[in-house]
Amino acid sequence: MKYVFVTGGVVSSLGKGLTAASLGALLENRGLKVALQKFDPYLNVDPGTMNPYQHGEVYVLEDGAETDLDLGHYERFTHTQLTRFNNLTSGQVYQTVLEKERRGAYLGKTVQVIPHVTDEIQNRIYQVAEKSKADVLITEIGGTTGDIEGLPFLEAIREFALDVGYNNALFLHVTLVPFIKAAGELKTKPTQQSVAKLREIGIAPHILVCRCEQPLGKELRQKISMFCNVPYEGVIEERDVEHSIYEVPLMLQRERLDDLVCRLLRLDAPPANMSIWQDILRKLIAPQHRVRIGVVGKYIGLNDAYKSVYEAIIHGGIANDSGVDIEKIDAEEIERGGAAKRLKGLNGILVPGGFGERGIQGKVLAAQYARENNVPYLGLCLGMQIAVIEFARNVLKLPHAHSTEFDPDTQDPVIALLDEQKNVTRMGGTMRLGAQACQLALGSRAAQLYGAFVVHERHRHRYEFNNFYRDRFMKSGFTVSGSSPDGTLVELIELPEHPFFLACQFHPEFQSKPTAPHPLFKGFITACIAQSGKP
Ligand code: GLN
Repeated sequence: MKYVFVTGGVVSSLGKGLTAASLGALLENRGLKVALQKFDPYLNVDPGTMNPYQHGEVYVLEDGAETDLDLGHYERFTHTQLTRFNNLTSGQVYQTVLEKERRGAYLGKTVQVIPHVTDEIQNRIYQVAEKSKADVLITEIGGTTGDIEGLPFLEAIREFALDVGYNNALFLHVTLVPFIKAAGELKTKPTQQSVAKLREIGIAPHILVCRCEQPLGKELRQKISMFCNVPYEGVIEERDVEHSIYEVPLMLQRERLDDLVCRLLRLDAPPANMSIWQDILRKLIAPQHRVRIGVVGKYIGLNDAYKSVYEAIIHGGIANDSGVDIEKIDAEEIERGGAAKRLKGLNGILVPGGFGERGIQGKVLAAQYARENNVPYLGLCLGMQIAVIEFARNVLKLPHAHSTEFDPDTQDPVIALLDEQKNVTRMGGTMRLGAQACQLALGSRAAQLYGAFVVHERHRHRYEFNNFYRDRFMKSGFTVSGSSPDGTLVELIELPEHPFFLACQFHPEFQSKPTAPHPLFKGFITACIAQSGKP
């Protein structure tokens, strides 16, 4: 088993996760089995309780773990199977250590960061290595070198590398080489300093992935190599991508990153065959079609809040050889200016998941606009609940219809709390989470798109369609095209009379990959292309 540790320097948001995932893709395409994991130095036990403004999207795994969005990159770029073990936070580490201490497991010793916390971190690396049976385990350390809270993780990986020995572990440091406009130059000093910071703890990186806006050039590479004590071929350029994040694996291949990793770790593997990725890129750069999709949400200013949704839309485009222009629309803007004004001209409308009352009315107006104007609509989780509320109000003529999440005393609670959720007081990890079976109705659009009758999709919600109203909906041209196998929970709804109006209680976006676009997103974009030809 071989280990790659990915750290980051200078600033956050350098795309360490993307770099780790891209290296994973390259190694997989050389025929190696790859596993990935992420360590997050914050004290939250998981990001499930964090606001999207703070943390971006919460990515949900098959087993229901609420994790960091970098795990989404791992799943999109590789075939790695992720579970709750693949994301470790300081909060989890301390929780485990403190529980052990209370049980008396430390036999009266003083419990300390070194060795007790660092051992706990190393245990996790061994556990994931053991479970995954991979050839290479890539571990990404969140945060930036120099952060106080990241220190125990860095100490742990230093010790770990010593343990597994030379040739079995390597350190890859992702750093920034900024372009200073006034000087007209790229600057290497921040990189030198962040490498010095790493060396202070005893980690000497083998590879530096340099994020930059301009080509590094031979001279600068030499300078970085010299001052950072990294061989020349270990200085890798990772320039800002021009078209898409899916260029990154190809860019790193051109820089021979995977060759170097294999050489340093003594891995004997043929060159990566990246033809699938080249084909994807071709479709992204020069697509046959082009559609405009409106995403109506509330965290619109923030790219990371709906990360997987945006990616899945792009994948739907790839499946249709279509470019997608995603228009991010603030639901409150629709409340202020009206739906037609903001949504006119779009080829499709998508309402993603969400919590809390702000912007709800704008989303209801967007669903109504899509339904009444034959604009393809895809609703995800909250987006399905919105479609249900809209239909109840405007077609079933229940003007007060609402979800009890937003109006606990509503006269017509068409969306209500699951019984099992009624007494929940602890917020972390208590929603209906993770993959559940969904049975599709014969002859439905969903069954046709999936080409299957039972599918497994990931969930993250507390509220549900209220079956008390089911008959009334069904009599008015609204169909339930997917439900839990016992038929009680509504999972998918459709309007068969509409060119494409489909919404699901689950999150299909978490299972979409550029190499395997999700059927619902694929179908949605197909419908948007068809719609774009109409006046
Ligand atoms: N707030 C809604 C619920 O809890 C929807 C959740 C979501 O969209 N993820 O049911």
